[in-house]
Amino acid sequence: MRILIVEDEKRLAMTLKDLLSQSGYQADMAFNGTDGLELARSGIYDALILDVMLPELNGFQVLQSLRLSGSTVPVLMLTARSDLSDRVLGLDSGADYYLTKPFENQELLACLRTILRRQTAIIPDLLEFGDLTLNPSSSQLTCRGKSVTLSSKELEMMTILFKNTGCFISKETLLLKIWGYDSSANANNVEAYVSFIRKKLSLLQSQVSLRVARNIGYKLEADS
Ligand code: CA
Repeated sequence: MRILIVEDEKRLAMTLKDLLSQSGYQADMAFNGTDGLELARSGIYDALILDVMLPELNGFQVLQSLRLSGSTVPVLMLTARSDLSDRVLGLDSGADYYLTKPFENQELLACLRTILRRQTAIIPDLLEFGDLTLNPSSSQLTCRGKSVTLSSKELEMMTILFKNTGCFISKETLLLKIWGYDSSANANNVEAYVSFIRKKLSLLQSQVSLRVARNIGYKLEADS
């Protein structure tokens, strides 16, 4: 799970990033509203922790723009102010949860788990495309009775491709969603995993292929 922290108090942002890493999440940081909105729009995050008082765009403006662009990413809003009108404004602009500073670490983690659960509740246990079935919890890819086990990176890549079968997913999106921003991974890593997945598809003799469009991206296609 990848979380974006948008918080201009750098020490708090770092503390939150450490807390999230210790709890098994990947976390990136943005220190103002403009950068936060741009990163959030990449669509690679499973949730946002969004401060209200931010330079450039404030948290409400970030959230409103994000919701207007169609994003349903769960958002946990943070603020030092505790008055009711702010809280109502936060919920009206599409926040899923509102937490007042100062808060306990455990409280923040609990809120985060709640909003993530709400989001993941709608993802089915099994993903299907063409003659393939992907079981994300067991990492099994099955084709007409034959199964292979996917490595964790292969599973992440296949899950993204399965959920977006109608469109090409760019190499950069795959790189960011799977490896994140502060990683030394590059386009070669994406290509390597694409070739691992292709080998597994051919092992399964699946009619689904992983198609590449130069300079556009990748998608799954079912040959009929
Ligand atoms: Ca702030």
